Amino acid sequence: MKLESLCLHAGYSPENGQPRVLPIAQSTTFKYASTAEVAKLFDLAEAGFFYTRLGNPTVDAVEQKIAALEGGVGALCTSSGQAASMLAVLNLAQSGEHLVSASSIYGGTFNLFAVTLKKLGIEVTFVDQTASDEELEKAFRPNTRAVFGETLTNPSMDVLDIARFARLAHRHRLPLIVDNTFATPWLLRPLEHGADIVVHSATKFMGGHGAALGGVIVDGGRFDWAASGKFPQFSEPDPSYHGLSFTQAAGPAAFAARARAILLRDMGATLAPLHAFLFLQGLETLSLRVERHVRNALAVVDFLRGHPRVERVNHPCLPESPSHALYKKYFPHGGGSIFSFEVKGGAAEARSCIDRLRIFS
Ligand code: PLP
Repeated sequence: MKLESLCLHAGYSPENGQPRVLPIAQSTTFKYASTAEVAKLFDLAEAGFFYTRLGNPTVDAVEQKIAALEGGVGALCTSSGQAASMLAVLNLAQSGEHLVSASSIYGGTFNLFAVTLKKLGIEVTFVDQTASDEELEKAFRPNTRAVFGETLTNPSMDVLDIARFARLAHRHRLPLIVDNTFATPWLLRPLEHGADIVVHSATKFMGGHGAALGGVIVDGGRFDWAASGKFPQFSEPDPSYHGLSFTQAAGPAAFAARARAILLRDMGATLAPLHAFLFLQGLETLSLRVERHVRNALAVVDFLRGHPRVERVNHPCLPESPSHALYKKYFPHGGGSIFSFEVKGGAAEARSCIDRLRIFS
């Protein structure tokens, strides 16, 4: 596909690259002029689309937008946030290898790491993200392949010290993956603090309307895969992709290129074009919604904190929060609309509070 027709297909002006309209490319396949054209696409010698499992113009538009929001060199959408975390780690670790992960993470990710990856032969050591460097060092092994954490943890709302975790990971020539779902790039851009890969459940704030499930992996483009010596899958010829080396073919975007060419190809956890369109619409209002979410949450946190039947409120904006110092460092514009609170009494009082809660939706 020629660049001009590609631009038109994706709704961009070939003159200035600006979006004209964004059609939903509701198509599994595309039309090609010649075998040579398809060969170039297949060899990653030219950007383009040859099958929607691997790439699609509407999905590409959302990938480019999220990569720009996070400050990455490329991105890859997935069918859910869960798939984004799974593909991000499977791009780095295989059976017999090991990951270090913060223990304070979304329950679904914890389960993926503790149970499913274990069955696939990948072991995960969970660490307390507030532990000292000396303690954290003990979790690393010669076969460790990545470090994982959440910028704002689900549901405890702890703040990850991204710069410290990045330093630790890099000391071992390993990348840091962070899940930035709760913060969104509007509040925090983890790549600017040393993270290498960012994942999201786009299902939440990016979509914004509860209408579509999806995820995204953003490639920071700065990790030197060849120099690390631990990731031959990026620098060595890949026999399942006719001997292509991803660092040679895709340069700094080797991580995203391999996740797409190998993992989306083989596992098929692809975002549908229609859902990509819904995410693009959601992203239009990300800044407005997140700003309002944060403001509303802080007002409710304030109300609950002064309530006589509330024992404790968990949000890092509160001075009593163990994450307050990190919150001030990483969230100058406020952080996160999620919080939890404990009612006075026990399980019966908690249940009664939830059952009597009226929410508007
Ligand atoms: N990461 C975080 C922080 C989440 O909260 C969730 C879902 O709640 C996920 C990942 C998984 O995302 P999805 O539900 O889109 O698969």
